[in-house]
Amino acid sequence: MARYTGSVCRLCRREGIKLFLKGDRCYTGKCAQETKAFPPGQHGAGGRRIKHSEYGIQLREKQKVKRMYGLLEKQFFLTYKKASSKKGKAGENLLILLERRLDNVIYKMGFARSLAEARQLVKHSHIVVNGKKFNIPSAQVCIDDKILVRAKSQKIASIQSSLDSAARRGGVPAWLSVDPKEFAGRVVSYPTRDQITIPIQEQLIVELYSR
Ligand code: SF4
Repeated sequence: MARYTGSVCRLCRREGIKLFLKGDRCYTGKCAQETKAFPPGQHGAGGRRIKHSEYGIQLREKQKVKRMYGLLEKQFFLTYKKASSKKGKAGENLLILLERRLDNVIYKMGFARSLAEARQLVKHSHIVVNGKKFNIPSAQVCIDDKILVRAKSQKIASIQSSLDSAARRGGVPAWLSVDPKEFAGRVVSYPTRDQITIPIQEQLIVELYSR
């Protein structure tokens, strides 16, 4: 499957906010969004600030969310389609569907330091869901799903160090529960909009796709 292979810090600098794509580095003074707080490219530093049109503002909001969850355009659009076909607000549904992705849940549970690392753990079959090996990062978790790091994989140093530093990344959200000693977690409930703390105006994404 196609994936973005360029610099992830560049994406943060383009959006002008921290997207937390690089694991522990994002929480240190080495974060590029802090040390080079200007857009990337030849005309970034000292260049003229672009005043976005209404379309531009909507587009940037969509790009932020898409990049935060590590999706490409088609995947993101298909998720939006699914969200808009559900009852309720399309924007909220979209964020909830993105939060419920298995790779995001592994990251939020603290088994990985970044979303990319979480996706790799899932793809390489280190994760067991409800007793079965599972390797689809985009799978949606449901209430009461039991998620476990495979016994063999619990020795992986990055998983242990990720669990140790989970609190620094903001801890585990209330809709998930984790037992770090057992390398296990459970989906307690579906996330609600106020539990999704990313600074996003999802309505702008709905407006963009409704054009
Ligand atoms: Fe973004 Fe993290 Fe890089 Fe900072 S260190 S620019 S938050 S990916």
